[in-house]
Amino acid sequence: MTTVATHCPYCALQCAQTLTPEPTGVSVAGRDFPTNRGGLCQKGWTSASVLRAPDRLTTPLVRGASGELEPTSWETALDLVALRLRAVRAQHGADAVAVFGGGGLTNEKAYQLGKFARIALGTANIDYNGRFCMSSAAAAANRSLGVDRGLPFPLTDLGGAQAVLLLGSNLAETMPPAVSHLAGCRAQGGLVVVDPRVSATAALADNGQGLHLQPVPGTDLVVLLGLLHVTFAEGPADTAYIASRTTGVDDVRRLAAAWWPERVEQVAGVPATLLRETAHLLAAASPSRGGSGAFILTGRGVEQSSQGTATVNAAINLALALGLPGRVGSGYGAITGQGNGQGGREHGQKSDQLPGYRMVDDPAARAHVASVWGVDPATIPGKGKPAVELLDSLGRDDGPRALLVHGANVRVSAPNANHVGDRLDALELLVVCDVVPSETAQRADVVLPVLQWAEEEGTMTSLEGRILRRRRAIDAPDGARSELWLWRELAERLDAPGTWDTDASLVFDELARASAGGRADYSGLSHDRLDAEPGLYWPCPATGGDPHPGTPRLFVDDFPTADGRARFVAVDDHGPAEDVRSDAPIHLVTGRVLQHYQSGAQTRRVEALVSASPAAFVEIHPILADLHGIAAGDLVSLTSSRGVVTAPARLTESVRPDTVFMPFHWGGAASVNRVTNDATDPISGMPEFKVCAVTVARADVA
Ligand code: SF4
Repeated sequence: MTTVATHCPYCALQCAQTLTPEPTGVSVAGRDFPTNRGGLCQKGWTSASVLRAPDRLTTPLVRGASGELEPTSWETALDLVALRLRAVRAQHGADAVAVFGGGGLTNEKAYQLGKFARIALGTANIDYNGRFCMSSAAAAANRSLGVDRGLPFPLTDLGGAQAVLLLGSNLAETMPPAVSHLAGCRAQGGLVVVDPRVSATAALADNGQGLHLQPVPGTDLVVLLGLLHVTFAEGPADTAYIASRTTGVDDVRRLAAAWWPERVEQVAGVPATLLRETAHLLAAASPSRGGSGAFILTGRGVEQSSQGTATVNAAINLALALGLPGRVGSGYGAITGQGNGQGGREHGQKSDQLPGYRMVDDPAARAHVASVWGVDPATIPGKGKPAVELLDSLGRDDGPRALLVHGANVRVSAPNANHVGDRLDALELLVVCDVVPSETAQRADVVLPVLQWAEEEGTMTSLEGRILRRRRAIDAPDGARSELWLWRELAERLDAPGTWDTDASLVFDELARASAGGRADYSGLSHDRLDAEPGLYWPCPATGGDPHPGTPRLFVDDFPTADGRARFVAVDDHGPAEDVRSDAPIHLVTGRVLQHYQSGAQTRRVEALVSASPAAFVEIHPILADLHGIAAGDLVSLTSSRGVVTAPARLTESVRPDTVFMPFHWGGAASVNRVTNDATDPISGMPEFKVCAVTVARADVA
């Protein structure tokens, strides 16, 4: 095989790469593309290592009488899975089989998995790990703007902005090549970072390049209400834009009136002067004030909250008050995390959605999708349980008895992970499809080895809503198979209706038909067109005439709401689900390090990344460490009402003295999600990963 142009397997920036097969493996190089400008981060440079991970799965495994996973043939494994799925359905009903998908699956797989769950298994219970990632930002954007496309503008638009407010995103570690797009605002002192830590990104706002607001964990919504207060009370609101392009401002203004900066300072610990400076800096950058543009961007730090949807709605309210969305060179956006976090939520693997970003309880949507699938609309199940609820219900009397997992490692990535482990163990059947024996696969009854990124064709949709071609560069190892193939095999064994293509370009064509007329319309696209015109943005509908050029910028003329206007959504603060208290006085916040991705199932198998970042750690302020007799390197335990995690201490003044930080990429005793809170946002189902209350102690002292 020869050099191929593709994109990185990891995050939603989807940096462009070339892959060249070599006698000893595959060499990787950065490729010029508007988002990464030829750059890759350490994960991207080393991404080919995972293709030949020493413990790569290449044969199906079935748990035998000895209790161990034992190799078997595909025929035997698939026959067994189909037999046991039939038995569970016969005894407990179709919803007793559940499916858990992933935001790293290609568009084609995300689509086919939703179809497989609904018409081959007949279950309503399908959801995916994007529920943990983007669900609150998606819900908020749908409420306010009428549609959820993470960035409704090209990333390169950031380059011309005078100010960027970055809330809860550590771009410098999660997506390093994206930092180049902040150079323009930093040069003008306009980068404002809101983060309880002095993260690598917050440090970029030093030295006159911007501001760092370091709130008490769990008070992001309060900070935003304070910024809204200043915007309305001190004059910088864009009244002409509010009057002509929005509705609902009065209730938002009334609620914000109660959050004057000095009150916010008391609750959130952010100086009132800094709040005023931030609001006026953003207003001065707004085109309505003659500035060159301003953006407000949210990330998981503020979204992974039991009031995540309200927090993002407050961020959008601020953007609307400043007149930003729909103005070229300004706007609001959410920085999607997972590789196909955007496409993964458009094609029907969410519990409440059908392909084309349609709602499963919409009769017209059901009729359209049923016509593409060739089934009666009445046979498409309704809304299923969202991820946290789904995982909690596993093995219970009224919950699923069998679970199929595709592209997720919930044993490490889900909140309250020990509890999730107990629920997995309560299942009658756990089937995991993966490329390596992740912590979740190790507990499975059946493990099915599948292909990975450079071994197959497909498409991904980046954080900008741009559809990109993923291309096969090398042959897969003998024994691994495509999920498209195994879903067809299972569908046939289950006597499922419909057709089950295994060629990704044909699945894409069907996906495009299913999306026609939906909010995320791909109907003008095909693999061939994406090969000829790389990186088109949705919506890109079929026209019947000249091809639609795609839509880089949304909202320029109007918003896709009933009246064409964006909606202010009135929200107020109710505090985190679990606040610090006398028996758990310290805030725990979680996040990422540069070298690892999500649960670490892939990156913990890359030698270069492991040698740079070998293990989990706890960041602790020297004052707090001193209080507990903790020295650098001591093993520290963090205890919440859900569990205990232990890791060595790193003493640093980059965290607040009332807060500790831990990255979430590791399993076992160092898995911080043993401790995190599975309380959820009532609107989106997003769990409260980012803040909980813990006690801190030296682990080696009784
Ligand atoms: Fe780019 Fe993300 Fe891959 Fe790093 S992990 S190379 S930032 S796509």
